[in-house]
Amino acid sequence: MIFTFLGTGTSQGVPLIGCTCEVCTSEDSRDKRLRSSLLVESDGRTFVIDTGPDFRQQMLRENVKRLDAVIFTHEHRDHLAGFDDIRAFNFILKRKMDVYASQNVERAIRREFPYIFDGSNYPGIPEINLHRIDNDKFSIDATEFTPIEVMHLKLPVLGFRMGGLTYITDASFISEKEKQKVKGSRVLVLNALRREPHVSHFTLQQAIDLAKELGADKTYFTHISHQLGLHAAVQKELPENIFLAYDGLKLEV
Ligand SMILES: [Zn+2]
Ligand SMILES: [Zn+2]
Repeated sequence: MIFTFLGTGTSQGVPLIGCTCEVCTSEDSRDKRLRSSLLVESDGRTFVIDTGPDFRQQMLRENVKRLDAVIFTHEHRDHLAGFDDIRAFNFILKRKMDVYASQNVERAIRREFPYIFDGSNYPGIPEINLHRIDNDKFSIDATEFTPIEVMHLKLPVLGFRMGGLTYITDASFISEKEKQKVKGSRVLVLNALRREPHVSHFTLQQAIDLAKELGADKTYFTHISHQLGLHAAVQKELPENIFLAYDGLKLEV
C-alpha cells in the first residue's frame, strides 16, 4: 500500500493568513502545510481520508485521476469543507462516489451540502453513495479498514488501521482498548499540534510519549500548527524513528 500525505497542517493550515512568524515565512517547502488528509493506494484502488478545504489543490498537486472512495475521520470543517469537489470524479468515472461516514459525519454532510440531497438533480452536483461506519471493521473491495475510536475533547473521531499503517488525527485521548488495535502497526501516524497544552489535541510531548508506548517501527506526526516551530529544527529534537510528516511525503507500507 502507498500512503501520501496530502496535508499535514492544523485547521488554519500553515502559513496562516497574515502571519509573519518564522514558520509562516519559511522558504522550506516542508513548512507549508495544507489541511490534514491522506491518500491511500491499495490493490488498484485509490482512497482519500477526509476532504478538507484544500482537497481540490491536493488532488491537482498529486495528479489524482481516479478516486474510488472517501472515508471520514470526523465532521470538523478542516476535514470536510472541500467535499463538493468530489464531483470531478463523478464526471471522470461516470459513477457515484462511495462515501464512508459515521452518523455524526453524515449529519454534517446533509447540513453543509443540502443540495446533494434535495432531489433537484441540479446538473453537476456531487453524486454519492453513503455507507454508514461505526467502530467495526469494514472493507472496500480488497482493503480492510479497522477503525480506532479516539476522543477529540468530547467528540469521537475515527482513526483507521490499514495493513501495516495506522492513521490517527485530531486526538486528545485514546482508551486502552483502542490502543490495543494500534499495537503491531509498522507505521503510526499521530497528531502533534504544538508544545503548549491544547484541550483537543496531543502536544508534541504527549505524542512522543504515546508513540513510544504504541511501539510502531516508525511514527510520523501530522496536524501541525505554525506554533510547533520550523520543520528542520523540530525534526532534530525528535527521538529515533519519530518524524514530522510533511505535505507530499509518500510511504510504502
Ligand atoms: Zn482537524
Ligand atoms: Zn505563523
